[in-house]
Amino acid sequence: MRIDILTLFPGILRGFLDESIMRLAREKGIAEVHLWDIRDYSDDRHRKVDDRPYGGGPGMVMMPGPVFAAVEAVDAAAAPPARKLLLTPQGRVFSQPLARELAREPRLMLICGRYEGFDERIHTGLGADEVSIGDYVLAGGEVPAMAITEAVVRLLPGALGDPESAALESFEDGSLDYPQYTRPPVFRGMAVPDVLLCGDHARVRQWRAERARERTLARRPDLAAAAAAAAAQQPKP
Ligand code: SAM
Repeated sequence: MRIDILTLFPGILRGFLDESIMRLAREKGIAEVHLWDIRDYSDDRHRKVDDRPYGGGPGMVMMPGPVFAAVEAVDAAAAPPARKLLLTPQGRVFSQPLARELAREPRLMLICGRYEGFDERIHTGLGADEVSIGDYVLAGGEVPAMAITEAVVRLLPGALGDPESAALESFEDGSLDYPQYTRPPVFRGMAVPDVLLCGDHARVRQWRAERARERTLARRPDLAAAAAAAAAQQPKP
């Protein structure tokens, strides 16, 4: 997969791309990530990319010219055309199903805003999907771009040491993950449940399924209800 990230602050993302899973995925050729500075596409001699809002109000708004120029140039730099994601707190909330959907694309483009956000013509004219990482406002789209990139790349074949890890995680089947333990068997008086030490795989599977169900009902009843509704929609065999 190829991912192009358009930002006013490429430096924020460099460390992220050079460490851990992102570094390995790039080294293994699983993901190719390119950073682009939107300022390079400004036609202003001071590389200006933002201006005051018409009608007044606080802050600065990102101008359409440099963003459209950057998106068009980057899209033309490789094939196929990218699926474009405009990062905005007003977009569809990012989720594991959306991460899975994006992981099937050959190419993504993530467009990061700053300041008071984008001129509305960027929202309406770019043909991008608007995506939010949650109901809170960050200073820019770089952290959302990192969150989405990591969630997608770890789903690509070969990115994780054990492909089963991604399949067994929270949200994959509409429930939260079961509790995990590792050594030592007792830590500060807190013991690992006996069932995990008994070596009976069927009992371990059953215990984990029960804990995952309990935990989902207690912490995320909305997920449990959605999974039950989806199951009810399935045709009976
Ligand atoms: N005035 C905008 C609004 O209320 O919708 C918020 C602008 S925010 C300060 C600046 C930029 O940060 C946005 O253009 C967007 O790219 C990014 N951003 C902030 N919060 C975000 C979120 N929850 N999800 C995705 N992007 C976000």
